[in-house]
Amino acid sequence: MDLDKVIDEFLNEIKGINDSESLAKIKAKYIGSKGIIKDLLKKISEVEPSQRKEFGSKVNQLKEKIEEEIKKKQNEIESLEIETKLKSEWVDITLTRLYDTVPAKHPVNTVKEELCNIFLEMGFSVVEGPEIELESYNFDRLNIPPNHPARDDHDSFYLDVKGMVDRYLLRTQTSPVQIRTMEKFKPPVAVVAPGRCFRRDTVDARHSHTFHQIEGLYVDKDVKFSDLKGIMLLFAQKMFGPKTKIRLRTDYFPFTEPSAELAVTCPGCGGSGCNVCSFSGWLEIAGCGMVHPQVFKNAGYDPNEVKGFAFGMGIERIAMVKYNITDIRLFYENDIRFLKMLSG
Ligand SMILES: [Zn+2]
Repeated sequence: MDLDKVIDEFLNEIKGINDSESLAKIKAKYIGSKGIIKDLLKKISEVEPSQRKEFGSKVNQLKEKIEEEIKKKQNEIESLEIETKLKSEWVDITLTRLYDTVPAKHPVNTVKEELCNIFLEMGFSVVEGPEIELESYNFDRLNIPPNHPARDDHDSFYLDVKGMVDRYLLRTQTSPVQIRTMEKFKPPVAVVAPGRCFRRDTVDARHSHTFHQIEGLYVDKDVKFSDLKGIMLLFAQKMFGPKTKIRLRTDYFPFTEPSAELAVTCPGCGGSGCNVCSFSGWLEIAGCGMVHPQVFKNAGYDPNEVKGFAFGMGIERIAMVKYNITDIRLFYENDIRFLKMLSG
């Protein structure tokens, strides 16, 4: 078996290649699972036993040489492709006034400010928490222990910090700010906490790996479910118009008990039914409920002394409902026409 012949043929073949598809073919032909190198290794049994070791090492050297050449070629092709792409996307940055470029606020920020202002008017304060959060704050202290099925809905981005007992992650919700607020302030508290959240969701019209939530927490000596209902109604009418009605339906969240899903009458049809609301007249916009006693305990509050409610909603979701946007991806593509449309 002439190994030199193999390498000569290979070098000859790879010389003329300048696209990734042909390179992949050569790669498969020589070092693939059914490639020439594999065949050579199979034939080792036909070699004189005394020469097997040498033959084996020669084949391996050959394989390394081929891999090296393929890698080199791959880099060449990649830089060629980048160059072609850059040429095709070339723009003259010295040109001016392609658009009417008045700076505008991003729609997510516009809606976030609108939400905060509504709650500020009601006497809530705005607080913030870290985007890189401890697992214990994001889950355990919110009454979501390890192996709790609710963790499955929050496929998380973990950060690998060596030697840490409590792991860091990109927060999957703004709810940990509830715990941080109660640790910092004595009751009564009335806060909203807007911010970015992250989940390992595949991006589609309704999902994004990065999104925004606003969390609310109200704690005092004597807080009832009817207080939650009143605040939610007032909020909905300020956000979506004075004729808006709300609907609360039983739901489940580990950190509230009882829990409810909040829906508002569809701003598109006023509740009579249209294709935006799938002819139901209602659009779900938030989760809410009375703070679970265990969550109070975990944050250092005495559940016998205080009661409270909490709510959480997606800022993009609120914007989508309010402005009849059907694709969440529009918020992140920064198409100037979309940004201008909602810049307020
Ligand atoms: Zn409707």
